[in-house]
Amino acid sequence: KNGGHYPIIIVGTGYGSAVAAERLATQGHKVLMLEVGLDWKGYKQQNPDFKFHKMTFPGKESTWMNKKPQAPIELGNMARFDEFTGVLQRIDYEHVKVYLGKGVGGGSLVNGGMTVVPDRNYFQEIYHKVGVELSDAELDEFYTIYFPRANDGVGKQDAPEDIVNSKWYKFARVGVQEGIDAGFEPVDVPNLYDFDYMRKEIAGEVPGSATDKEVIYGNNYGKRDLTKTYLKRALATGNVTIMPQHKVVEIKENFDGTYQLEIEQIDTLDRAVETKTFTCDKLFMGAGSLGTTALLLKSKLKGGLSKIDANVGKYWGNNGNTMASRNTLNFIGHTSRGLKQSTMPIRGLSNFDDPEHPFFAEIAPMPVMGAYTGLYLIVNKLKKFGEFSYDLTNDELKLDWNESHTAHMRKNAEFFLDRMNEHGSKGWFGSKFSNNKMLMPKNGVDESICYHPLGGVVLGKATDLYGRLKGYKNLYIMDGSLIPGSLGVNPYVTITAIAERNIDKIISQDF
Ligand code: FAD
Repeated sequence: KNGGHYPIIIVGTGYGSAVAAERLATQGHKVLMLEVGLDWKGYKQQNPDFKFHKMTFPGKESTWMNKKPQAPIELGNMARFDEFTGVLQRIDYEHVKVYLGKGVGGGSLVNGGMTVVPDRNYFQEIYHKVGVELSDAELDEFYTIYFPRANDGVGKQDAPEDIVNSKWYKFARVGVQEGIDAGFEPVDVPNLYDFDYMRKEIAGEVPGSATDKEVIYGNNYGKRDLTKTYLKRALATGNVTIMPQHKVVEIKENFDGTYQLEIEQIDTLDRAVETKTFTCDKLFMGAGSLGTTALLLKSKLKGGLSKIDANVGKYWGNNGNTMASRNTLNFIGHTSRGLKQSTMPIRGLSNFDDPEHPFFAEIAPMPVMGAYTGLYLIVNKLKKFGEFSYDLTNDELKLDWNESHTAHMRKNAEFFLDRMNEHGSKGWFGSKFSNNKMLMPKNGVDESICYHPLGGVVLGKATDLYGRLKGYKNLYIMDGSLIPGSLGVNPYVTITAIAERNIDKIISQDF
């Protein structure tokens, strides 16, 4: 079916796409957004009883096309349900499992809301590592204009004192104290969750979300996902149309320089119910690190985008993501972290300046059975990049990523746990915490969990310095694929800031 011609098409509705949509629509441009996942607002209207699932009771909408939950810590692991195009997808490679948010809003639907600007030196260093030099003037621009704009755009807030001191964040306060005792630097982590709403949750005046085990399968209240910020503002212009359940499967450049997109409209079992062809003058890619890289590599092999630069597929990383956990079964004398824990993290521990073991550890909540369990998402630096290729026979993206990429991440996590066990929290009779092998059998550490896939179409390598894909005109990359594998902190503010910077330039020069 001919789906028609549009001046601008944006693929995806995550951070990069949402920024492009808002900026273009505010300038008066008509924009079509194509999203493979569901429009969850529409789904709620059609199913008034539907609520995003708590971590403890996942139902079919929690998970993309699987009969059981795929969460790294399966609090609800007894659950079984029908397959469905749910909100959290896990893509398994041999040595890493990548988690993605699905639906209008992309990763913002499932993420933990941590809103962190990367260290300026490391931001420069990681691009330098791939041979892209960001000048001081460019960095100044990032840190004085685009990071603040991104923070405002997503709704960053610092956790207020009364919230920090509530019982819901005892896990964070205890975690910080243990970290200080172990010689790590405490870090306040802003979040985009609406803390005024959380205050009312705590007072029992409104339904709980962060205080009721909601995150990773979506939040029903309180969290400022993109449908409450960028996408809301974009839609309010009247210039944006979003087509959910529209999967882009291939891209072709036409002779006249326009682009043709092959689309499958899918049902809630990920089956094509209709195939469509759209064309556009300008194409913006925001399908995320894996989604955008896959589409470009596939379209290159199929001949539709044959001039694509050899750098597409390179410089991928897991942002050093490594989960770690410690616990004690001998509670006596140990300080409880509390049975009630908010799902939105607000504190971390840094060891980033240590040349031997540089990392940042997010103090993560364990809203169930977490009173004597510490859980951390450790963000390491990257030593070696992964690389994608595309397998046309099986129609899938392949990833070269193995233990040689992650060995130092495991070592750092084990170093962190050792120090925390040794110095942080001693119970009576000297009893200590130890690595939590019940939760993570390999010594309390799991380097296979990736929440932060980054890279594949890196800024300055596969694109120019503003995301224009090399070899093509009017084809722009906006998402996490622009970042070479690592940031040292949680990534969406940086993705948002880069998108804000790219779209500024593109609007002023290419329209
Ligand atoms: P995404 O947000 O992934 O958006 C891509 C969109 O494109 C998706 O909606 C997808 O469905 C769609 N798409 C993909 N392929 C196609 C196709 N072929 N056709 C049509 N549409 C397509 N980051 C932080 O900074 N702080 C946090 O606290 C944090 N917590 C996280 C917790 C979890 C559980 C997870 C999974 C991630 C977390 N992240 C966090 C990471 C953050 O959410 C991502 O880095 C961010 O969403 C990536 O933005 P993006 O624009 O690159 O792509």
